[in-house]
Amino acid sequence: MHPLMETVTERIVRLKKERNAIILAHNYTNPEIQDIADFTGDSLGLSIQASKTDADVIVFCGVTFMGETAKILSPDKIVLLPRPDAVCDMAAMCSPEALAQRRKELPDHTVVGYVNTTGPTKTQMDVCCTSGNALKVVRSLDSDKVLFVPDKNLGSYIARLVPEKEIVLWNGCCPIHDSITLEEVSELKRRYPDAYCMAHPECNEAILSVMDFVGSTEAMLNHCKTMDNEEYIIVTEVGMKHRLETSCPGKRFHFPESAVCEPMKYITLESIADCLENLTGQIVLDDDIIRDAFLPVKRMIEIN
Ligand code: SF4
Repeated sequence: MHPLMETVTERIVRLKKERNAIILAHNYTNPEIQDIADFTGDSLGLSIQASKTDADVIVFCGVTFMGETAKILSPDKIVLLPRPDAVCDMAAMCSPEALAQRRKELPDHTVVGYVNTTGPTKTQMDVCCTSGNALKVVRSLDSDKVLFVPDKNLGSYIARLVPEKEIVLWNGCCPIHDSITLEEVSELKRRYPDAYCMAHPECNEAILSVMDFVGSTEAMLNHCKTMDNEEYIIVTEVGMKHRLETSCPGKRFHFPESAVCEPMKYITLESIADCLENLTGQIVLDDDIIRDAFLPVKRMIEIN
């Protein structure tokens, strides 16, 4: 078919083959992006998946730190971001310089860093974690003094579960999850009184305290699959609704409408086709950053 006659989907399929590429879509991207992806999931799960394939090119439909994590795990592959201007506000709250300074102030603390950080910031961590394994990572440490960065909500959730350790928090958060209000959630509970309630630990304590279940997006998905309930209130970013609906047909999911991460919605099918065609939006990290940032990620994978 002449390229001018192609639909954007046909263009992506052709370019994927020509480039030997795979497409990864984060759970928070728009439905049409998730539908065209080879894998959908959370950022670390996708990066690990990508490192196991023989693809030459990884198109990461997500924000910049996710592409960087994929590059750290697959340094020999070309990693493309369809929208390199899609930046995570929480990752921007913890610079490598500020973390290096805090480490000096707290030399006895083990630095546990959420995966939602840039590659350079990861070089300043002792061990990385995700929302799904943060509890296991913190519990596994020999040290009983921890500096947890950058999400104060996830950190304080873990601190409540591990009271025997001293956990110092960083003053960062996901503005999307942190700004979901108890009023919004209470209104959802009034409208759907039989719904089972789940929230992401990036939400603040007031929200988490009224939930039936707290967990990462993958944990929520797995939990929904095993439950008999038909109705759920899910307190996380609204993009997750599509993944839940396609994975759990017949069940109904209600989200707080304010929970929209705009940078995740920048990505369009056209932007995927364009980056594949022109190899634009490549993640470039210095070799020493890749080497040093890989260590805390490797430690986390070993703990798991
Ligand atoms: S939802 Fe929050 S943590 Fe996730 S990418 Fe958006 S700003 Fe970052």
